[in-house]
Amino acid sequence: MDVPQSEELINELVERVAGEVGVIVYTLRPQREFTDEEISQELGIEINEVRRALFSLYELGIAEYRRKRDEETGWMEYYWKINYSKVRDVILRELMRTKKKLEEKLEMEDSAVYYICINGCLKVKYEMAMEMNFACMRCGAPLDYLDSTAAKQKIIEEMDKIEDMISNIRQERNN
Ligand SMILES: [Zn+2]
Repeated sequence: MDVPQSEELINELVERVAGEVGVIVYTLRPQREFTDEEISQELGIEINEVRRALFSLYELGIAEYRRKRDEETGWMEYYWKINYSKVRDVILRELMRTKKKLEEKLEMEDSAVYYICINGCLKVKYEMAMEMNFACMRCGAPLDYLDSTAAKQKIIEEMDKIEDMISNIRQERNN
């Protein structure tokens, strides 16, 4: 199975969290500290967009900043740094979080039997379906037993994939 490497994963993650501008700033790979103004001028991107992307990267744990008051203007200046060494830890954390969500989803599927309206109006637990006499309260159509085997299989496959990614990244980190 082809498992995405961390570089690919991080680009996905950065794009999801910090948008296109985030990816652009991230791939610039600045080695020194920079201000949002510098990046904004260099890339010709609105300073607010740059700032928003940088704060998203900060929340993700990839960017750091320190503030300094400009002597002349009295404005607060942000000096940014991208923490490329922390990237793997950040992805690992995100993957663990995704894995946990999948586990919960699987548990939910396992814990109950569901019925759905054949017209797709609703999905209810067996007890509720019984109360409704197995007829949809919205459209009146019959409620059908929902076979969750395929759905569960899909969750399990996704979990396996995440597991593989996690062990890959751990290996990369140890190299
Ligand atoms: Zn219905």
